[in-house]
Amino acid sequence: MQKEEFVKEALDRLIERYGRELHTELVHRNLTELFVAVFLSPQCTDKQVNNVTRGLFKRFRSFDDYAGADTRMLMRYLSGLNYYKTKARNLKKSARMVLELYDGKVPRSLEKLMEFPGVGRKVGNVILNEGFAIDEGIAVDTHCATVARRLRLSRHKDPHKIEADLLRKVPREQWGLVSNLFIALGRDTCRARVKHCERCVLSDICPSSTMPNK
Ligand code: SF4
Repeated sequence: MQKEEFVKEALDRLIERYGRELHTELVHRNLTELFVAVFLSPQCTDKQVNNVTRGLFKRFRSFDDYAGADTRMLMRYLSGLNYYKTKARNLKKSARMVLELYDGKVPRSLEKLMEFPGVGRKVGNVILNEGFAIDEGIAVDTHCATVARRLRLSRHKDPHKIEADLLRKVPREQWGLVSNLFIALGRDTCRARVKHCERCVLSDICPSSTMPNK
């Protein structure tokens, strides 16, 4: 099967299995909460972030609240997260930037989002996709990276290089969906430690289905 054909077939099957209505599991009720939850997510599980934001979102409701927060108090709220001290400092700085540079509104471009301290391509891509349905890139997390490598869509480990490979191979109109589909597959059958190819919808076309776990 040609690469293009393979990608189309794989995505069609994943859409059939997991649907198109896939969203982040980071709990949020509005754009400010989405920004904060995604901002806090690097190096943490969604569950860790949700545990922290449950209390955080009761106390902090706007970018004004974060910008004016006492940094030590913010650190206490975030202490269940990896790198919470840096994240607290960066969140406060970012909230100020949203207020001063963007009139209190989250900007709608990857380039602008990546000017915030602590925001990389993955965080920016998720905010754009979830918040505005804009797809400038593909958010590559650990699930997405594992699946992309096992499907031989990339041989890299670096998320930026994997994203570059996916951007070349996946049709533009599916950039937003592919990340969530790969995450769904990664959580379901294509787990990093133990893969379950025997019940995977891609088992007959996947080049890794008969390979040992890696
Ligand atoms: S067949 Fe196995 S290796 Fe391939 S995508 Fe499915 S679970 Fe992953």
